[in-house]
Amino acid sequence: MELRVDGKRVVITAAASGIGRVMLDVYRDAGAKLFISDIDPKGLEDLRGSYPDIGVMACDVAVTEQVDAFVDGALAAMGGIDVLVNNAGIAGPALPVEDVEPEEFDRVLAVNIGGQFRMARKVVPGMKAAGAGVIINLSSAAGKFGFPLRTPYSASKWAVVGFSKTLAAELGPFGIRVNSILPGPVDGERIRRVISDKAETRGVSFAQVEEEFLATSSMGVMIDPLDLARLALYLATDAGKAISGQSLSVDGDTRYLR
Ligand code: NAD
Repeated sequence: MELRVDGKRVVITAAASGIGRVMLDVYRDAGAKLFISDIDPKGLEDLRGSYPDIGVMACDVAVTEQVDAFVDGALAAMGGIDVLVNNAGIAGPALPVEDVEPEEFDRVLAVNIGGQFRMARKVVPGMKAAGAGVIINLSSAAGKFGFPLRTPYSASKWAVVGFSKTLAAELGPFGIRVNSILPGPVDGERIRRVISDKAETRGVSFAQVEEEFLATSSMGVMIDPLDLARLALYLATDAGKAISGQSLSVDGDTRYLR
């Protein structure tokens, strides 16, 4: 079955690199019109060069005025938003709770859950008027398990699950579907950073922490970002027309985090 989203107007936050970038490619290949944000000016410039057909705007999802301007930009460019992928999220510190600065905690919450709230509150009125819409919120396996040394991140990702479930209940009557995706550790630069921060905090080797990460799932795998992008695409098509309010794990059967 080929999944197509021809002509669907899709917004993805933080799509200049990482998982968002892979999602951008998958949605674009499936026929979507795209409008994306990021905070990295160089990444945005690269995207403008490579993909003149997509809308690109700088936006920090933690700043209300920037989110409002970004969504207004997307609406002006595309005439509406059918699919919102709230992908932006930062890892935050890998520290014992007593060493986490309150400002760092606040920043992680402001980006990871505050950003999804800011985007949703601005996008939902248009979706309600259209009587349809799809919202996909990136959580994490850290939104399902305790994740030592990562209190801000884990708290924010559990919040995403509660936010998504509530939004699904609130918006179902308007034909709007909301789901969260909970990836396990994704192959790529970010996870290498997280592993290396944890190794440093605990005074152990990178190889040891990497092995521990792999041991947390019964399948012993890192996640291919393409699998996340394909699930996000599926949810945006009619194939997913009855899927809402779900927390969908893509984590090789993660059993715990450490
Ligand atoms: P990443 O660290 O690779 O960053 C992707 C992009 O986010 C970057 O281009 C960066 O400039 C942008 N960004 C950072 N802060 C931003 C902000 N405030 N506003 C807008 N853009 C911002 O991230 P990733 O690994 O691709 O993760 C994407 C999502 O998936 C996040 O919500 C993350 O928590 C979640 N996730 C990732 C993993 C993983 O192992 N990588 C695992 C589980 C969940």
